[in-house]
Amino acid sequence: MPKCYLCPRKCGADRPSSRGFCGADTLRLGRAAPHFYEEPPVSGKNGSGTIFFSGCPLSCVFCQNHELSDGCFGKPVTVNKLADIMLSLQDRGCHNINLVSPTPYVKDIIKALDIAKLKIPVVYNTSGYERVQTLKALEGYVDIYLPDLKYVSGELSEKYSGAADYPSVAAGALSEMMRQRGGCEYGEDGMMKRGVIVRHLVLPSHKDESIAVLKFLHENYDKSKFLLSLMSQYVPDFKAGEYPEINRKLTKLEYRRVSEYAIALGFDGFFQDSSSQSSDFTPPFDLTGIDQ
Ligand code: SF4
Repeated sequence: MPKCYLCPRKCGADRPSSRGFCGADTLRLGRAAPHFYEEPPVSGKNGSGTIFFSGCPLSCVFCQNHELSDGCFGKPVTVNKLADIMLSLQDRGCHNINLVSPTPYVKDIIKALDIAKLKIPVVYNTSGYERVQTLKALEGYVDIYLPDLKYVSGELSEKYSGAADYPSVAAGALSEMMRQRGGCEYGEDGMMKRGVIVRHLVLPSHKDESIAVLKFLHENYDKSKFLLSLMSQYVPDFKAGEYPEINRKLTKLEYRRVSEYAIALGFDGFFQDSSSQSSDFTPPFDLTGIDQ
């Protein structure tokens, strides 16, 4: 197999005989099941058919999925098995197939989608740390892009996610996603059929960074091309205890300041209340839906 250059790390790992920076070797999954805690037009009443992939090109110190992203927990599957899992979630009535942290497996995902020929939308759920070249390979396969924009500060992105180039890389990735799928469309049931939702998780002690992120989105992108999802669900997890300033939940005041700014800038999208600040919304990574 050729060396892997799928993500901005471009580490050149000789997969599957060796693991990349992201921890990925062969196609590996941690969970596949309906998920009900995405944005309302993605989750709906039947849930989003969510497939969690193992490994991640970022190394966020507060990652809530760290068993998958850092430990690379997961079971190896074939491309045919991945296609079967997608079809099984479709048969269960899920509104879409939601690929979480899919970047290291884009080539396998394209093969599985060619086999499955799904009738429901495909959601690409990503940190935003994506190569434009890799996104271009997904054109026509992905219906809904669900990227984060975590930071615009290279200092913070290096400190908390180990990637000083995250802001410039994510900015280019968002432009490509909006070029492909910008402008949201909905079905008669109110579910999203295509579009881009840009997520931003407000971090404790960093509301000024969140305001800078919103200002960046406002100044650089056409608001008719995407919805904003402003998230307050941060809970200190993984290595957050090593960083006192983020070793707590967000206060209501911090979130309110950022959400008021978003509203003042005219963003359309989704806001959360403080009930979202719970690890209960992170599902167990126990191979549900894989071992069937
Ligand atoms: S996806 Fe993983 S293996 Fe491929 S270039 Fe990125 S870090 Fe390396």
